[in-house]
Amino acid sequence: MTIDFKDRVAIVTGAGGGLGREYALELAARGAKVVVNDFGGARDGSGGSASAAEVVVAEIEAKGGTAVANPASVTDFGAVEAMVADTLSRWGRVDILINNAGVLRDKSFAKMTLDDFRFVLDVHLMGSVNCTKAVWDAMRDAGYGRILMTSSSTGLYGNFGQANYGAAKLGLVGLMKTLALEGAKSNIHVNSIFPVAGTRMTEDIMPEEMLRLLAPKNVVPAALYLVSNAAPTSTILGAGAGGFHAAHVTLTHGIMVPEADRTVETVAARIAEITDCTGETVPTNGAEQGGLVMSRLGELKG
Ligand code: NAD
Repeated sequence: MTIDFKDRVAIVTGAGGGLGREYALELAARGAKVVVNDFGGARDGSGGSASAAEVVVAEIEAKGGTAVANPASVTDFGAVEAMVADTLSRWGRVDILINNAGVLRDKSFAKMTLDDFRFVLDVHLMGSVNCTKAVWDAMRDAGYGRILMTSSSTGLYGNFGQANYGAAKLGLVGLMKTLALEGAKSNIHVNSIFPVAGTRMTEDIMPEEMLRLLAPKNVVPAALYLVSNAAPTSTILGAGAGGFHAAHVTLTHGIMVPEADRTVETVAARIAEITDCTGETVPTNGAEQGGLVMSRLGELKG
């Protein structure tokens, strides 16, 4: 199977460097017209310059591809709306949105200011909401859309010093889960990726040897699959250094407890059974989880 993006129009946020740049280059190489969005600030989100995106556009054009630079901050809904309006008037459609822009303001929670907490939520979570909101109607009207949220192992599993980032990154998975349901009838597929790559975001967090193994291009196959015609929906893929994985939000079989025994002590005594992973499932929506409990009420009789 060959996956191409011929005649597709893609917006990649934060594509002036790191992973976004790799996504933009490969999308263009496979035929997509690409909006290379980047605010061009420092790793903590300070500053800003149009040149980061322009350099990547020049790279794409030098290879015969088609791209346009856009310096909007994803935190500015008006600027994001203008970017989408410009894309629609230039190329008539928006098929793909990769929400990739990101910043870090790491500190232990005790030392983290609420401003730093809000800022990181604003860029990652609200930035992705802004961009998704801005393309949603056009995708729905066209009956086609592919949206990728960039999550992180921090959101899924936690990492010391990244409470703000982790909250934003798991928030994106929750956003994906509901948008995948709402987008299904319009052929809008929404997925998440949790990459691991050597970029300026990780250059002083990971040892040099590890960074060499973690070239950002190793993440591209998973990201592009998740925005291709063949993409699933509501899938969370991990990628990096040649590894590809899926993460699931699972539900254990748990226990059903008669009314008389529903005490704190019962939960304490049976916590190993409640958390036992044997036979766990992945509900496809929240209502299904409630339904699973209701379907087992019969176990309480007799
Ligand atoms: P990076 O710093 O190289 O790239 C992030 C890009 O986003 C930068 O070019 C930056 O200018 C841009 N950006 C920042 N704020 C912006 C804004 N408000 N509007 C538009 N652009 C903005 O880092 P990266 O490692 O390539 O990160 C890309 C994404 O992958 C991020 O969402 C990051 O959280 C996520 N991620 C990366 C790793 C990793 O190992 N590198 C792991 C997990 C998740």
